[in-house]
Amino acid sequence: MNKKLFVISGCSGVGKGTVLKEFMARNAANFILSVSCTTRKPRQGEVDGVNYFFVTHDEFEKAVKEDKFLEFAQFAGNFYGTKKKFIKQKFEEGLNIILEIETQGALQVKKKMPEAVLIFIAPPGAGVEELEKRLRGRNTEDEETIQRRLAEAKIELERSKQYDYVVVNDDLERAIAEIEEITRRELGHA
Ligand code: 5GP
Repeated sequence: MNKKLFVISGCSGVGKGTVLKEFMARNAANFILSVSCTTRKPRQGEVDGVNYFFVTHDEFEKAVKEDKFLEFAQFAGNFYGTKKKFIKQKFEEGLNIILEIETQGALQVKKKMPEAVLIFIAPPGAGVEELEKRLRGRNTEDEETIQRRLAEAKIELERSKQYDYVVVNDDLERAIAEIEEITRRELGHA
């Protein structure tokens, strides 16, 4: 059976982490969530090799020069990238892969792998105000980071127009069901 790459993006604070965690809990048999490399410092509770591979700037740069990334991008002052090798290995294991990445990287993936399916998780309503509320509620970032992430969010919403699907996260259960339906349809299981 053909395995697919699904790319999921959404602005910071849109709740995509929760949507994805639930989706993965229900679909772990067929899907694997890709583990990216990042130069960002781990947040409390994050584990190297589980949430990310935490690397130095030099290590990241070296991997870029050696063409090790399927895609990479700078986001809010840090670098993030998906290793080609990780994707190759998981396909060989017979799994569908989910990349949870920002929009510049997602559009790079689409160029290299047009068969990849891009899903954007959008905030309900007008968008940016609701996002600001959630980012502040999360209480994990300082003011400067919040402002930078809001600016990024506006750009991301604009790029979402190039995605295959936009799923509005107005309700957790509904959003998960919609993503499950999209994956079933794209995998030809509908
Ligand atoms: P965070 O620092 O909150 O974990 O992630 C910040 C942003 O980087 C999120 O939008 C996340 O989806 C994105 N991101 C995580 N891993 C990758 C990656 O490998 N490539 C790209 N392009 N973006 C990533």
